Amino acid sequence: MKFLCDLMIQKLGKILILCGFDSKIITTHTSLKELIEISLNEKRILLTRNTKIRNYKFNNYFLLIEQKPYNQFKTIIEKLNLKLDENKFFTRCSKCNKELKEIDKNLILDKIPLFTLQHTKEFYICPSCNKIYWKQSHFDLFKEKIKNYL
Ligand SMILES: [Zn+2]
Repeated sequence: MKFLCDLMIQKLGKILILCGFDSKIITTHTSLKELIEISLNEKRILLTRNTKIRNYKFNNYFLLIEQKPYNQFKTIIEKLNLKLDENKFFTRCSKCNKELKEIDKNLILDKIPLFTLQHTKEFYICPSCNKIYWKQSHFDLFKEKIKNYL
């Protein structure tokens, strides 16, 4: 299941990406007509808070009423019956939604703080923006937060 998140629910999009769901986030003002086109072309479920979506001949959307991102997330998980898999957490770039690739730390020595290099074994890179990721303590905090919400 792939998602398309409009401008108003960017934070929900980030949470979905962190949990490993393929989610495209729209960061500029985009009309519903354009959003529907992207949804159809890329077979993504449109997630939106815009009630005008009901006026279109289109039904591959989920209308959110909740305002808070984590409440929206809970609703999506429950109503769309999504399975959370911790092994999928942090496998995508939170900026580009691309799947991360593992990278040999010897190739990125100049890009990582020394302390991190000494204490971390696995590093990942986004093939699109080249951002480098590694498992930090805030990853565990995020996992805890997700568990508490569900
Ligand atoms: Zn990226």
